[in-house]
Amino acid sequence: MIEVKPNPSMLVHHGSYGEYGGAYIPPVLEKQLQQLADFFDSETQKEDFNSEFIQLLKNYVGRPSALFHAKNLSEHVGSKIYLKREDLNHTGSHKINNCIGQILLAKRMGAREIIAETGAGQHGVAAATAAALLNIPCKVFMGAIDVERQALNVRRMRLLGAEVIPTELGSKTLKDAVDAALGYYIENPTSFYLLGSHVGPHPYPKMVGYFQSVIGQEARQQILEFEGRLPDSIFASVGGGSNAIGLFSGFLEDTSVAIHGAEGGGDGTYPNTAATLSFGKPTVFQGTRSYCLVDDKGEPIPSKSIAAGLDYPGISPQHAYLKDTNRAQYYPVTDQEAIDAYKLLSRLEGITTAIESAHAVALAIKLLKDKNELAIVNVSGRGDKDVEREM
Ligand SMILES: *Cc1c(COP(=O)(O)O)cnc(C)c1O
Repeated sequence: MIEVKPNPSMLVHHGSYGEYGGAYIPPVLEKQLQQLADFFDSETQKEDFNSEFIQLLKNYVGRPSALFHAKNLSEHVGSKIYLKREDLNHTGSHKINNCIGQILLAKRMGAREIIAETGAGQHGVAAATAAALLNIPCKVFMGAIDVERQALNVRRMRLLGAEVIPTELGSKTLKDAVDAALGYYIENPTSFYLLGSHVGPHPYPKMVGYFQSVIGQEARQQILEFEGRLPDSIFASVGGGSNAIGLFSGFLEDTSVAIHGAEGGGDGTYPNTAATLSFGKPTVFQGTRSYCLVDDKGEPIPSKSIAAGLDYPGISPQHAYLKDTNRAQYYPVTDQEAIDAYKLLSRLEGITTAIESAHAVALAIKLLKDKNELAIVNVSGRGDKDVEREM
């Protein structure tokens, strides 16, 4: 029996990861976020909070997610590869783990509504889903251009009862949706800001890391059960860093396990890239200190990647720390490499992954070629959303 349980070691962080992390926020938010941090710390010490979270992960999300030995891919590559199937979760990606955790917290805090922002709509759909389940109103802020580009996800959110609020500010994309949502949060302190990745000010990375750590906890038990030993290496795609920290957190103490993150490389060269750790510099961006893609004056620049979920100029502060301390290695994976892996895995295994996850598959194929290693690759989501697109 595989136990579904978040990793308690994720609760020892206090918002800083070496020189990274912290909370760089306007003074009006200080009290709200401090209350949130304290509340999270006390609830996660309680048996009934954790058991409610775990029950929903099991019975609603469908965890534990399978760890699948991909024999055809393994043969093709020359290493033994297991896929951690987050694509099989309800709503089709890892994002639901975090949405359920944070909304449970919001309900217990007495929040009156959930606010979230979304770019491609994956986080928005997961947020709207968990809000419907837990019976709390949900507003999703979205750039007006994204509302048009992601019509299907907008319809899904509305069907789930969420209010989708297009923002006409700035470039009308994700960054502007974040600004609009933050503005609303400051004016409405009884709302709960549901952040979708391992980014932003403390306590968000700590909370998101804890809720996503179920991925690594399960994968570690599963590989030990199937193989009787730990993997030689593990792989995940890195946008803001939440699915990756979810998997990596299960193996950080196991120094024999090599840890690899696949960034959205775009065309492989700066500035047409979303590979923040490969091409960025340490900077304060959207509430936290971490690596960020910047111009020659040190100002944040827009990122570029075929995968909407990886297309973010910032990155989790913990991944910045893992990179600097050499515990994990991060590589840019180009759009074309991801497309090739997306097609290859569909044909070899009958699994069409999200184009985001295909970056991790592509990196694994490249680094594991004829190595005869035992490896786990995180399939963060399913690829239905990407099928319509010409690739
Ligand atoms: C959002 C998303 C990602 C990237 O976000 P992380 O926080 O880095 O995990 C990766 N894969 C899928 C399927 C996504 O929806």
